[in-house]
Amino acid sequence: MKAIRLREGKERSLLRRHPWVFEGSIAKGKADTGETVRVEAADGRFLAWGAYSPHSSIRVRAWSFDEAERIAAPFFQRRVAAAVALRARLPIASDGVRLVHGEADGLPGLVVDRYGATLSAQFLFAGAERWKAPLADALIEASGAARLYERSDTSARALEGLAPCSGWLRGGEGGAAPTECMIREHDWRLTLDVASGHKTGLYLDQRDNRALFARWVRRLGCQQVLNCYCYTGGFSVAALAGGAAQVTSVDSSGPALERLCAHVQLNGFEAARSACVDGDVNAFLRESLAAGRRFDAIVLDPPKFAATAAQAERAARAYKDINRLALMLLAPGGLLFTFSCSGGIGADLFHKIVAGAAHDAGVDGAIVQRLEAACDHPTTLAFPEGEYLKGLVILKQA
Ligand code: SAH
Repeated sequence: MKAIRLREGKERSLLRRHPWVFEGSIAKGKADTGETVRVEAADGRFLAWGAYSPHSSIRVRAWSFDEAERIAAPFFQRRVAAAVALRARLPIASDGVRLVHGEADGLPGLVVDRYGATLSAQFLFAGAERWKAPLADALIEASGAARLYERSDTSARALEGLAPCSGWLRGGEGGAAPTECMIREHDWRLTLDVASGHKTGLYLDQRDNRALFARWVRRLGCQQVLNCYCYTGGFSVAALAGGAAQVTSVDSSGPALERLCAHVQLNGFEAARSACVDGDVNAFLRESLAAGRRFDAIVLDPPKFAATAAQAERAARAYKDINRLALMLLAPGGLLFTFSCSGGIGADLFHKIVAGAAHDAGVDGAIVQRLEAACDHPTTLAFPEGEYLKGLVILKQA
């Protein structure tokens, strides 16, 4: 077994069970892509078993802090089974469930979502890639799912020196298995294609926030609703279920909007209650303001504007701008659900950004609720980096 020796004083985060070792912390030692290494302190003391990634600035990700652990197929079976067992205990109103959430489930670089009988997985790190076959077997066994599709086609893999990779891993019936899935979420149904949808197919982290939005829309009697960065319209369906008269949904992805229209019909709502705009949200907000439009409720759920803390400043300006425009577009007493999924923007900073936006808009309001990802996307105490989605529910002053 190859050893990775850390520099003096660099053992502290591993001792606190933080699973990452950065390139700059390593004094000596090398291994192949995904190979299991023994990580040692400067004095040779055992710290962790981890997977080595020669091209990544996160050079090692820890599998286990237990020296007696053997990193082999049974280890992955146990970790996967524990992740699946945890989900079975959670109050989840859907058969679309995040089964494995990377570091939070002790499986760095592995993301797995369940859509009914189909699993969709991303192997984002050299270690997860190395153990793909035993992980795939363990996932099928623990979940009882019929099939597993791989969606390892994200830019994160390039940082690891891994090529994009997608297709059936298990139960694909030689390519004949359907990549199209339908899930029940709360009182509605949503569809997705594991082969062509964003990420693994759907944004399950917003599941509970979609239900909450429906409740707020109903409570306030919102009639005109605007869903920005709508993707396939989860929040749009929620607004219609909450009794909105008309929902306008904006996204720059044509295929996502086509699916949104299908979702309106699938859930039994009149097509006339839904309008789609294929375009840039910022431009739409400006045009709507210029045209004197007003909305009773607005959702802002943009993509990740900042991938790292270094990009936070530029991202902050972009968040501020859309929030300022949205607050101006809201009718008095209106409802704003505003989100950031950038890991580099913490909850405090996001609050400040939105407060700055309100100030610039000349709008006052109250934060009536704070939002986060659904409970099947847990964060471990030792790994705060895992926290990424934050949201505010704001009521504009009447
Ligand atoms: N709220 C959605 C998820 C949003 S993901 C849900 O509940 O499912 C972010 C979306 O923003 C993606 O669908 C992407 O196509 C879209 N997007 C990214 N940049 C955009 C832009 N400048 N204008 C409009 N849409 C954009």
